[in-house]
Amino acid sequence: MFRVDLEHRNKKAHDGQRKRERDVDKIVIVGAGYAGMMAATRLQRGSRDFTMINRHEYHYLTTLLHEAAGGRGAPSHYSVPIRHILDKPGSKLVVDEVVKIDKEKRVVVCKSAEHEYDILIFALGWIPEYFGIDGLKEHSLVLRSLNSASHIRDHIEDQFRQYLDDNNEEHLRIVIGGAGLTGIELIGELVDWVPQLCVRYGIDRSLVDIQNIEAMPTILPQVPENLREVAMQTLTEKGAQLRTNTKIVRVEKDVVVVGDGEEVHAGTIVWTGGVRANPLLGEAGFTVDRRGRAKVNAYLQSVDDERVFIGGDSAWFEGEDGKPAPPTAQMATQMGKQIGENVLALGSGRAMKAFEPDNQGTLASLGREVGVGNVKGIPVKGVVAGLAKEATKVKYLWELGGIRLASEKTGQLVHR
Ligand SMILES: Cc1cc2nc3c(=O)[nH]c(=O)nc-3n(C[C@H](O)[C@H](O)[C@H](O)COP(=O)(O)OP(=O)(O)OC[C@H]3O[C@@H](n4cnc5c(N)ncnc54)[C@H](O)[C@@H]3O)c2cc1C
Repeated sequence: MFRVDLEHRNKKAHDGQRKRERDVDKIVIVGAGYAGMMAATRLQRGSRDFTMINRHEYHYLTTLLHEAAGGRGAPSHYSVPIRHILDKPGSKLVVDEVVKIDKEKRVVVCKSAEHEYDILIFALGWIPEYFGIDGLKEHSLVLRSLNSASHIRDHIEDQFRQYLDDNNEEHLRIVIGGAGLTGIELIGELVDWVPQLCVRYGIDRSLVDIQNIEAMPTILPQVPENLREVAMQTLTEKGAQLRTNTKIVRVEKDVVVVGDGEEVHAGTIVWTGGVRANPLLGEAGFTVDRRGRAKVNAYLQSVDDERVFIGGDSAWFEGEDGKPAPPTAQMATQMGKQIGENVLALGSGRAMKAFEPDNQGTLASLGREVGVGNVKGIPVKGVVAGLAKEATKVKYLWELGGIRLASEKTGQLVHR
């Protein structure tokens, strides 16, 4: 009944305004990541009231978590209090953990309370994909939140201290599983940070072993082959071992076992090798793909329920080429904006717009100053890529909180 109403309303935009507004009265956004925050800022600018539910009272910059994990800046540099951005009386923030979506009753169930919705914007992002590798979940760290980034940084530093106590060199071996964007950017941070740690603790740099282990024949599948070679060379020269064609088959406490049975003993094991969508969508009965992403139509509404918009890493959106949109911050940001606009359109009787992804390119940092990637198809490397990556941070902050936030955060991020 409601589905028909919504469809009808979108097609016949001139119908009665009062009824339309009543139908989208209760807007609930779950998840204050890239997609959720962009949708929320659009709604706030359009003077639409909503409730945002998120695990923390701050929004963190997931694409910079490797910097926080690699000791570059204080955790506060990578987060923004949500209330600084969503500061209108009608923009309500609930800090809670979402545990279930009841799509029949149209209720978001949290640990502390339940929230009814007319329109739900689902943007709870991703969880790690362990591919069934024995012991991986139990014995590895993951880089998925500000807290986990701080934990990785503290853990590595603690391993350096333990080495001073017992002289066991295994404390100084760091294994990063997965050579996608996250794994490579983390390796890049570590090769720049470890020399500082060695000076601080009086440890010879040659005793520290930083390894990346990847099952595929190549690193960074997102960038062209010649740039992958640049990345390999840059990181190897800075002292990392990049082991491609090497499959992790089992993980035990402080041990990674690879394909041929070799045991790599390491004080730090971080898994970055895969992501899947937040499982709450699949559990609620939405149509999901093998990565748990819920299928959406051209307007980013669930194909199962037009009252539910899904954005970011949780969305299964297929573009004209039939390929699913990749799980990137770039896509999440674009989707969030479109969802915000489409919900505003629904509320005011205008027609919604189909989502048109615009691939701006991919950039991977390789430490504090250099990187590789492409900007709108043009290959970039070295300092130019590093600067282009910095520019994407500023652009995002500007979109999120205007010039005030961009200048405040850029100052923090530059003077770290
Ligand atoms: C280290 C690293 C580097 C990256 N670099 C890049 C890059 O350079 N470029 C790029 O495009 N992409 C990059 N990515 C990928 C990018 O960060 C993700 O694609 C993006 O964050 C997805 O956005 P999202 O809005 O879907 O979810 P997220 O940004 O993950 O936001 C989800 C939000 O929901 C909250 N949440 C989750 N579960 C619950 C719950 N049950 N209850 C309440 N709240 C909950 C989380 O705390 C979070 O605030 C990187 C990822 C990592 C980890």
